[in-house]
Amino acid sequence: MHAVIMGAGIAGVTNAYFLAKAGFKVTVVDRQPEAARETSFANAGMIAPGHSFTWNSPGAPMTLLKSLFGAKTALRLKLSTDPRFYSWGLKFLRNCTAARAHEKTLVKLSLNLYSQQQTHKVVAETGVAYDGMRNGILYLYRNAEMLEAGVAHMQMMRDRGLRIDVLDAEGCARVEPTLAAVKRRIAGAIHCPDDESGDACKFTQGLAAACQRMGVEFRYNTTVREIIVGGGRVGGVVTDKGMVKGDTYVMSLGSYSSLLSKNLGVKLPVYPVKGYSLTLPIDGHNGAPSLPTVDEENLVAISRLGDRMRMTAIAEFSGYDNSNKPEDFAGMIAAAKDLYPDSCDFGKPNYWSCLRPMTPDGPPVVGRGKQKNMFFNTGHGHMGWTMACGTGRITADLMQDKKPEIDVTGMLVDRFN
Ligand SMILES: Cc1cc2nc3c(=O)[nH]c(=O)nc-3n(C[C@H](O)[C@H](O)[C@H](O)COP(=O)(O)OP(=O)(O)OC[C@H]3O[C@@H](n4cnc5c(N)ncnc54)[C@H](O)[C@@H]3O)c2cc1C
Repeated sequence: MHAVIMGAGIAGVTNAYFLAKAGFKVTVVDRQPEAARETSFANAGMIAPGHSFTWNSPGAPMTLLKSLFGAKTALRLKLSTDPRFYSWGLKFLRNCTAARAHEKTLVKLSLNLYSQQQTHKVVAETGVAYDGMRNGILYLYRNAEMLEAGVAHMQMMRDRGLRIDVLDAEGCARVEPTLAAVKRRIAGAIHCPDDESGDACKFTQGLAAACQRMGVEFRYNTTVREIIVGGGRVGGVVTDKGMVKGDTYVMSLGSYSSLLSKNLGVKLPVYPVKGYSLTLPIDGHNGAPSLPTVDEENLVAISRLGDRMRMTAIAEFSGYDNSNKPEDFAGMIAAAKDLYPDSCDFGKPNYWSCLRPMTPDGPPVVGRGKQKNMFFNTGHGHMGWTMACGTGRITADLMQDKKPEIDVTGMLVDRFN
C-alpha cells in the first residue's frame, strides 16, 4: 500500500513514521526545502497535557471584543473581509459555552496523554535527539486570586488522573531555584510534574531522517496545487512538479489544509491563528530555568531548549499574514526578563511568527473523509507538538482499518458536516 502524505510538519512526519513502521510505502510532499520549516519550526516546545484547555470559554468572546478596541489581550482580533473567518468564528462562538469547553478539553486531554506515551515510544525506538526535558511545567501566577481560580479550573483534569502540585512562592523557588530572586512578585504556581518539553523542529527533522532510513521518500520544494477526485476516490495530487499518485492520501498541510481540501466535499474549518516566537542564545548565562514556565498573567511561555531560550506568546486572528516586527515581541521579552533576567543574551533575538492551524472547537481533525482513500491529520492548533505522535498513530491505525487505542469520536472530521 502506497500512502502520499501532504505536509512535512510534525503531523505529517509522525504519520509517515507510523505508516512506514506498519509496512506502507510512503511519499511525503512539502513545499519547503526540509521538514518542519513552517509552524513546527519554533514553537514553545511544551509537551503539555496540563495545558489541554480549549481556547473556547464563556469569557473568550468578550476578550476578543476588547482586543478590537486596542486592549492588549492574549487573543487578538483584526477585522477581516475573509468569509471563512466569519464562518469559523461562528463555530468558535458556538463552542464557547462552559459545557462545550469542558467536553472538548477532556477530548484534548485524553489525546494529549495518549500522545505523550506514543512520543516516548518513538523516542525509545529511534533515539531521535530533541533537547527533551522531563521536569514538568510550571503554570505560574503573580496574583493569589488567579492562582486559586487556576487550581479550581484544573480540577476537571485532576479528576481524570492528571498529577498536579499547587505551590506557593517558596515552593516555586524550591522546584525552580532561579525563581528565588523574584519570589516576592509571584503568588505561586501549578506544577504539572508529568508535562515535558523539547525542540519540536529538531524532533521532526530527526524523525524525518529516521523515516528516510526506513525508506520514506520526501519530495521537498514541491507545492501541492490541487487534489484530483473521481469515482469516490482520490486519484492523485497535482503539484508544481507534476502529479503524485498513491493508493491512499493524508492531508497534513497545517493552516493550509482547508484551502487545499475544496475538492474533497468535507467542511474543514481549520483557520490560521498567528503566534510569535523568540529564540535567544544562553551563551554562558547562569540563570536559565531547568523547567518550562507559562506566565499565566501575561500568557507567555518560556522554555529552555538545549543551549537556547524560547519565548512565545499571542494568538492573533489576522488571516494568512505571517509578518512580524520587533515591537511584537516587547511583551514577552519584558515577562521573561522579569522572571528569568539572567537566562540568556537578550541582545541576540531571533524573531519568528507562524500560524497555528486551529479548529473552532479545539481538538484536531482525524479520520476518513468522503473518499475511501482520503484521511485527515490536521488542525492541531496550539498543541501540535503534544498531539502529533498520538494523531500520527491514530491515523495510521485508521488507515489500516484498526480500531485506535483511544476513543477518537470527538476528533473525527465528520463532526463539522
Ligand atoms: C507560537 C506558537 C507556540 C506553540 N507552542 C506549542 C507548544 O508549546 N506545544 C505544542 O504542543 N504545540 C505548540 N504549538 C502548536 C504547534 O506548533 C502546531 O500545532 C504544529 O506545529 C502544527 O503542525 P503541522 O504539521 O500541522 O503544521 P506545519 O508544521 O505548518 O506543517 C504543515 C506543512 O505543510 C506544508 N505546506 C503547506 N501548504 C503546502 C502546499 N500547498 N504544498 C506543499 N506543502 C505545503 C508546509 O510547508 C508545512 O511543512 C505552538 C504554535 C505556535 C504558533
